Amino acid sequence: MNLHEYQGKQILKKFGVAIQEGIVAETPEQAVEAAKELQKQTGTGWWVVKAQIHAGGRGKGKIVGSEQRGVALAKSLDDVAAISKNILGNTLVTIQTGDAGKVVNKVLIAQDVYYPGPSEVKEFYMSVLLNRATNRNIIMYSTEGGMSIEDVAHDTPEKIFKEEIDPKVGLQPFQARKIAFNLGVSGNAFKEMVKFVSALYKAYESTDASMFEINPLFKTSDDKIIAVDSKVNIDDNALYRHPDYAAMRDKSEEDPTEVEASEHELNYVKLDGNVGCMVNGAGLAMATMDIIKLAGGDPANFLDVGGTANAARVERAFRIILKDKNVKAILVNIFGGIVRCDRVAQGIVDAYKNIGEIRVPIIIRLQGTNAVEAKKIIDESGLKVYSAIQLKEAAQLVSEVLK
Ligand code: GDP
Ligand code: MN
Repeated sequence: MNLHEYQGKQILKKFGVAIQEGIVAETPEQAVEAAKELQKQTGTGWWVVKAQIHAGGRGKGKIVGSEQRGVALAKSLDDVAAISKNILGNTLVTIQTGDAGKVVNKVLIAQDVYYPGPSEVKEFYMSVLLNRATNRNIIMYSTEGGMSIEDVAHDTPEKIFKEEIDPKVGLQPFQARKIAFNLGVSGNAFKEMVKFVSALYKAYESTDASMFEINPLFKTSDDKIIAVDSKVNIDDNALYRHPDYAAMRDKSEEDPTEVEASEHELNYVKLDGNVGCMVNGAGLAMATMDIIKLAGGDPANFLDVGGTANAARVERAFRIILKDKNVKAILVNIFGGIVRCDRVAQGIVDAYKNIGEIRVPIIIRLQGTNAVEAKKIIDESGLKVYSAIQLKEAAQLVSEVLK
């Protein structure tokens, strides 16, 4: 589950990680109030208005139909109001959103931390994530932080450092010091960096996160080390341990069909192809997607209806698949192990009748307990469906209907 920048920063703060302070707002009026409050708390006279969407690249991204960037400096309360008005309710397109962009419902009003002072400001990069190859968490970091870490990784990979953490002993103080040293900070900034790294790692571990990315990780002109941005991903499978983080889920940022499916406990992932599939069991679903490819089609989705493929679930699954306008055919591939194929067949017939005319051909392959009876029910139903028992026949039918 992804979080917004402002939510990630709330978590960081809870674990003692220093952040660029901010207050979230949903209207230009709230934005001005937030700016005033922030002035009281931090003494700042300038602010940054930051669009809250589940995508990066906001600083370079633009609001559709205007020159407004997704992150912008405001030097007065009037600026705060004007920028917020430009952003809120409008669509932001960044390198990560795709051409369709994302509608912005909230802005974070943050203190300006790029103020002048005794030393130069500096933007670093830091992330904590799991290295699946070694089964260990790593801290990735670079002196070249800011807006284009992808280019750094591509052009000068030697400027990206990695520190691997041994799970038996956790992050060691010498490792935090080594990171601060490699980042080239000294004096108070060195001490602050060591503290930052330790607190960040603690936050990552304690929240069961799969990623924390801070870009820029920022050194102010008076040698404070703070998180200016945060990208946080919490492992879905651990959310049951963290109801407070689970409550941070923003469904408006997710694919609406996937949200609907998860509310009905259907495992659904939308894909770009033209053949919808309804399958019981994740392994069989993967195999079915391969079969569709072999037959010259492209899967429109991954959908595992689970062990209880009853009529209600089958109907729900059909409705979800049919919301995708790219779907040209549907392949139902259900193995009757505990579930009986004739029951599933009857479920399909009932669902079909409930939904009314289904606009695409349906190929049904039921195999396992009572498969022959099931085929009979389908064949005699008078519905415009094709039935098969062998997977090969089903695949042939898919390629025929696609023609
Ligand atoms: P992203 O583009 O989506 O990654 O958004 P960020 O939160 O990283 O912000 C983008 C850029 O905005 C940063 O790299 C900074 O250059 C700029 N920025 C962020 N905070 C401030 C601030 O307090 N003052 C100023 N002047 N610029 C800021
Ligand atoms: Mn950023």
